[in-house]
Amino acid sequence: MTSPDEFDIAVVGGGLVGGAIGYGLAKSGLHVALLDEGDIAYRASRGNFGLVWVQGKGLGLALYSNWTQLSARRWPELAALLRADANIDVALEQPGGFHLCLSERELEQRVQTLTRLVAQPGLEQYPFEVLDHAALAERIPGIGSTVVGGTYTRLDGHVNALKLLRALHMGFLKHGGVYLPNTRIESVQRNGERFMLEAKNKTFRTTKIVLASGLGNAQLAPQVGINAPVRPQRGQILVLERVRRFLHHPLATLRQTDEGTLLVGDSQEEAGFNDSVGMAILATLADRAVRTFPALRDVRVNRTWAALRVMSPDGFPIYEQSRAQPGAFLATCHSGVTLAAAHTLELAPMIAAGELGSRLHPFSAERLHVQKAA
Ligand SMILES: Cc1cc2nc3c(=O)[nH]c(=O)nc-3n(C[C@H](O)[C@H](O)[C@H](O)COP(=O)(O)OP(=O)(O)OC[C@H]3O[C@@H](n4cnc5c(N)ncnc54)[C@H](O)[C@@H]3O)c2cc1C
Repeated sequence: MTSPDEFDIAVVGGGLVGGAIGYGLAKSGLHVALLDEGDIAYRASRGNFGLVWVQGKGLGLALYSNWTQLSARRWPELAALLRADANIDVALEQPGGFHLCLSERELEQRVQTLTRLVAQPGLEQYPFEVLDHAALAERIPGIGSTVVGGTYTRLDGHVNALKLLRALHMGFLKHGGVYLPNTRIESVQRNGERFMLEAKNKTFRTTKIVLASGLGNAQLAPQVGINAPVRPQRGQILVLERVRRFLHHPLATLRQTDEGTLLVGDSQEEAGFNDSVGMAILATLADRAVRTFPALRDVRVNRTWAALRVMSPDGFPIYEQSRAQPGAFLATCHSGVTLAAAHTLELAPMIAAGELGSRLHPFSAERLHVQKAA
């Protein structure tokens, strides 16, 4: 009989990345522990914008676009599994999404970026449309005259990200996973065939581990021989009061939730571990929202928040199995909502099998060493 602190595999971090992987691993029949620091931790998973977004992802690494597209295509399957396992509808909608531009210069830069992106060798093509004001106004009634144009791709969508986090945890439990909150892992060591994870007053023994602890990975990953120099990047969001449904597509910085509220986002700031909101940024977000939809001038702001993204040096995910300590895996990314389907349905089975497939080799942290040396 195994002790209660022994598992086939321990996932460190119960956010969207650890939750999605843990759910996939538990579904495969393994005895899995999900160890999470708790409510005091920094958690991007509780403060994000909820987009399942392909548009614009992958400039500089075409395979990241392909991975993102794969996840977007498999998202309906994940949503159906979560409905069956957790009895939660995560409110997935994938009607395509728009990125709106408020000046000719913005539009020009946007089109240049997407043109360069889709011209990259190795990219699974995804067509994007460029629309002028008149074409946009037909598809998104109510846009302001300062919206000069925008881009559209049909793969984009959104979900309720809090319901998603909850559903992943419920699905994990349904398949026999053991969730241990308030369990901060201080150190990881190899002892023969097993990993020893040290928490306060407790040691867990496992055959494999997955480090999915968001910003905590920077400290834990080197202990298993992986370099994961992730940093915080702050994003601020405004939440507007509930209004009658008028927006049927997510926009890159504005969307109407399944509950009727409007989310206006989201800044990208280098502010270290400071996760407080500031009026200057919020005012800029509000100004753009009102210029995009003048009717929002009369809609009240209910609340605001800031949260910290988990950013790698080049912005792309890191997936790696340690060469020094095989059986220790690392997963981190800054689009954990979008990639949840890929994490549950593609990455978790690879980890269960003990090998990351060739599709994921370009995401090794070794690319960061090469860049540094160059
Ligand atoms: C403002 C904002 C907007 C965003 N918008 C989107 C979006 O629209 N679409 C999208 O796809 N993504 C979006 N993201 C990104 C997305 O939220 C993140 O990619 C995702 O939440 C990362 O999940 P994670 O599990 O890696 O990290 P986190 O959510 O930060 O979770 C890490 C977990 O690890 C635990 N932990 C840390 N250290 C330890 C330790 N030592 N021991 C045990 N547990 C530990 C913590 O308790 C925490 O629960 C956004 C992020 C922000 C901040």
